[in-house]
Amino acid sequence: MARKFVLAAAGVGALCAVVVLSVPKVEFLMGGAMVNLGYRLQDGLHDYDFEHHEITPEQVWNELRAQNELASSVRARFPRYSDHPVVAMLVCMDARIDTNELTGDTRHNTYIVRTAGSVISPVEADMLELAVNNGVKLLLLTRHTDCAAERVAADQTARGQYPSLAAAVEQREAKVREFLARPAVAAKVASGQLLVKEMLVDTATTHLDPLPPPR
Ligand SMILES: [Zn+2]
Repeated sequence: MARKFVLAAAGVGALCAVVVLSVPKVEFLMGGAMVNLGYRLQDGLHDYDFEHHEITPEQVWNELRAQNELASSVRARFPRYSDHPVVAMLVCMDARIDTNELTGDTRHNTYIVRTAGSVISPVEADMLELAVNNGVKLLLLTRHTDCAAERVAADQTARGQYPSLAAAVEQREAKVREFLARPAVAAKVASGQLLVKEMLVDTATTHLDPLPPPR
């Protein structure tokens, strides 16, 4: 009797799991929860691989290759999400900002351009315009708190060491305006096909906040 009850309960449980997993929103949230569990498991591993600052560059390369072998062998078993992105983001290269966490989405359906300080040169402007012409509907231009590139621009000694970066940070606002004035971009904004948002990423949490007004 007890055995029948256990089998029946297991059957009901399996049926519930199938029903729940057939709802895309639930699948998406459960996937996000499992990815977050993975982050939490790896976050605390301070005595593992790349955290050993005394290791040689060759050892770092070997470790990266080994990790790539493992990760790519897992990916090879599952087809990748392949729809065209509708979001493009400009993000600082700061390693603390994880764009998967920022979007809450691991399916790589976002074009991402990363530069120190989120600066835009003509090359990055071309990249973003290419993304827009590929069907992007939301362009998210971000800066972030505690930005090393902004500290470089504000420090006289560092400015001497990194003059091009300091100048690019200073010209950032003007370059964004130039980009938004490009005919292809401006036309899409004017027709309502493209929304542009400028936001500040909280580096500690990846929360998006309004960008402070320019000084
Ligand atoms: Zn930065």
